Amino acid sequence: MVPVIALVGRPNVGKSTLFNRLTKSRDALVADFAGLTRDRKYGEASWQGKSYIVVDTGGISGDEQGIDQVMAGQSLQAIEEADAVLFMVDARAGRTAADEMIAEHLRKRDKHTFLIANKIDGADQDAILGEFAALGLGQPIPIAAAHGRNINPMLEAVLADG
Ligand code: GDP
Ligand code: MG
Repeated sequence: MVPVIALVGRPNVGKSTLFNRLTKSRDALVADFAGLTRDRKYGEASWQGKSYIVVDTGGISGDEQGIDQVMAGQSLQAIEEADAVLFMVDARAGRTAADEMIAEHLRKRDKHTFLIANKIDGADQDAILGEFAALGLGQPIPIAAAHGRNINPMLEAVLADG
């Protein structure tokens, strides 16, 4: 089975940027993968010979939508159908109430969840690690999706047991 990895997080944390970097914009042939819903964006990717499917929960729009709707919509479904969840937070913006609500949901689910602190360019790494570690989902993995920083170590952690 090809593992399905969902990118989840509040708007503007960099989910689509990471999706594009991982998939290099190749769209997956969703029809080839039973059980996946068609209304989300899927991409095929591989790392060190290991194939996986990435899910961008891109239909989630602006902050004004509210966290209830975010968690009631695509993200929830994406979490359910994924083998692993990359929960993305914004290291420049710091921890937000929306992050805490998503974290609370993920802590209750029996899913492999990885906390990914994006936009570490220009952020104080030590401060970030403490702030996001308090979300109760382990130590954050710092990356900069836009610059390709630390992507390989992240994939190694995520795909190691998958
Ligand atoms: P999404 O709403 O979670 O899909 O977020 P996007 O991928 O659309 O990114 C939101 C904004 O953050 C865009 O302006 C990106 O260029 C920017 N962004 C994404 N990754 C990084 C990063 O690693 N560093 C910085 N500084 N900006 C980033
Ligand atoms: Mg997006």
